[in-house]
Parts: sequence; C-alpha cells; structure tokens
Amino acid sequence: MKKHLCEAHLHTSEGSACASVSGAEQAERYRALGYDTIFVTDHFFNGNSAVDRSLPWEERINAYCRGFENAQARGKEIGLTVLFGIEYTYGSADFLTYGVDKRWLVSHPELEDNDFFRYAALVHEAGGFLVHAHPFRRAGYLREIRLIPDYTDAVEIINTHNKDGLSNERAKWYARQFDFCVTGGTDNHDVPAGEFCAVCTEKKITTVSDYISAVKNRKLTLETIQFESEMQTAEHI
Ligand SMILES: [Zn+2]
Ligand SMILES: [Zn+2]
Repeated sequence: MKKHLCEAHLHTSEGSACASVSGAEQAERYRALGYDTIFVTDHFFNGNSAVDRSLPWEERINAYCRGFENAQARGKEIGLTVLFGIEYTYGSADFLTYGVDKRWLVSHPELEDNDFFRYAALVHEAGGFLVHAHPFRRAGYLREIRLIPDYTDAVEIINTHNKDGLSNERAKWYARQFDFCVTGGTDNHDVPAGEFCAVCTEKKITTVSDYISAVKNRKLTLETIQFESEMQTAEHI
C-alpha cells in the first residue's frame, strides 16, 4: 500500500528570518523527495519573522503570507499540495496553528497584542487546531520549558530539527501523560539533505481539514527518513 507523505512544519525565507530557501524552492525540493503535501508554517510576528513590523496590519499579513503563496503557486505547477499554517510564539512555547487562513489573519488586527490566550480562543472559535511544537527543545534562545496543556490540541513528538534525541523522547512522555494526539515535522529552514520527518497517511492530505482529522483520529504514522541529496526520491519507502 502506498503511503502519502506530508511535511507539517516548514519555513520559507520570505516569511522567516532564520530560513534560507524560498517557498518555491521548498516546493520543488519536497516534490523531488516524493512528498504529496507540505504546510508552510512561517514564524509569526512574535517569533523570528522576516516581515517589517512597522507595516500596517493588512500589508504585514500580505508580506507574511508571501512564502506560502509562492510555494503554493509553484506547487500547482509541479503537482504538490501546499497548505497554510502559522508558527505562533508565546515566550519559549511555539504553537503550530492549522485551520485559519490569510483572510482570518487580516480580520484580526487585535492579534498584534500578542496575547496567546486570546489567540488560542480565536483560533479555536474558527475551528483551528494548535500543536505544541518541540515542547522540550533546549537551545540558547529558549529560557524555559513552557507547557500549556489546556490550550494544546496535539503535540509534535518528532521534530528532526531538534539537536538531541532526548527532546523528542520528552515530548512523547508529555503526550502520553495527557493522552494528546501526536504529530511530527522536519521544521525545515534550509536543510537540503539529512533527516526529515514525514507524516504518513493512507489517504492523501489535500486540505487542512484532512490533516486535522488525521491527527485527531490518530490516522497517521510518523517516519524519519534520511535523504542523502535532494534529488533522491522517497519512492522506495
Ligand atoms: Zn526559525
Ligand atoms: Zn519552526
């Protein structure tokens, strides 16, 4: 049975200051690797955003969505589904957000206040879904471990951008303790080769709702795949 591969955590240089490849390049690379679907989850304005924070709200959202839109346009040409997500930062906690879109962001300029709890309530009101990304990552830019189980819908238990295996083991422990649904991602900023994480599903993910229901209903497997070069395809798995 053929598995379908989805990347749930990825950055573009248009949206994220820490990423070095564009949305179009990410789309091309993932298509070459054999993925069916990618989410673009650029850092929001409270994280490492590449967007000028002095722009008026709507222009800022337009700039924020550019990496996604460029990836989506290239994806259409080459047969890759590209879906929208957000990585929202609250102190040392990063929440991947699925199920809201550009129009929703434009209509909520109050998000400028960076109030995570208000954000979470608005996302849930809109039918969105919050995944706590790499909850136990240790890195110089993180000052604490911040768990917010009551506002968390699922936990990212594999993040191949984490520098040590222990961070993922702790995330698995956290998910087990609270019986959270789980998912994973590469958190790809620029890596052309190396270890990737794929969300594998029997049915291809073509909409954000497909992804949310696969996570909620635990209808996925998580695989880490070693890619030697970007031209190697995933056909063999
Ligand atoms: Zn980043
Ligand atoms: Zn990320």
